[in-house]
Amino acid sequence: MDVLINTRITKIPGPTVTIDCPACKAKSVNGESVRQVDQLELFYLLPFMKLRNTFVTCHECNKQLICTAPFDELGELSVDDLSQHLVHHVSIINKFLALASVLLCWVPFVGLLLGCISLAVNWRITGWTKKLSYIGIGASAVLTAAFMIILSLAGVK
Ligand SMILES: [Zn+2]
Repeated sequence: MDVLINTRITKIPGPTVTIDCPACKAKSVNGESVRQVDQLELFYLLPFMKLRNTFVTCHECNKQLICTAPFDELGELSVDDLSQHLVHHVSIINKFLALASVLLCWVPFVGLLLGCISLAVNWRITGWTKKLSYIGIGASAVLTAAFMIILSLAGVK
């Protein structure tokens, strides 16, 4: 894979912006913006895919935030506008919990508990981890309910 595909990363520094940091909750702190372009090249020669990401690094907590606002407009956005476009990096724990809640949704109670924990930690994140948490909770709620019904029916006899 390494021989076939090479990634060339270019970082373009952007303006210093003022943000409300979603990671450390600091209000009106400075952040350093950067545009990162990942150029994927086939056989080190043929460019075939470009990934563009904008990141803002919070001066308070040094966390790197994903910024979904257009890079060129960063300097013109107000604190509120810009903050709506900032996403805290999803941690491996969040991802693990979200996946586990779906994979273990068939285990009565355990699946439901995992789903609730996963949704709690993924609450502020909009993305697939939150969606998976909802799926995990939904599926495990139905299955746990079914399990309870079967248990009570078996108990009656
Ligand atoms: Zn911060």
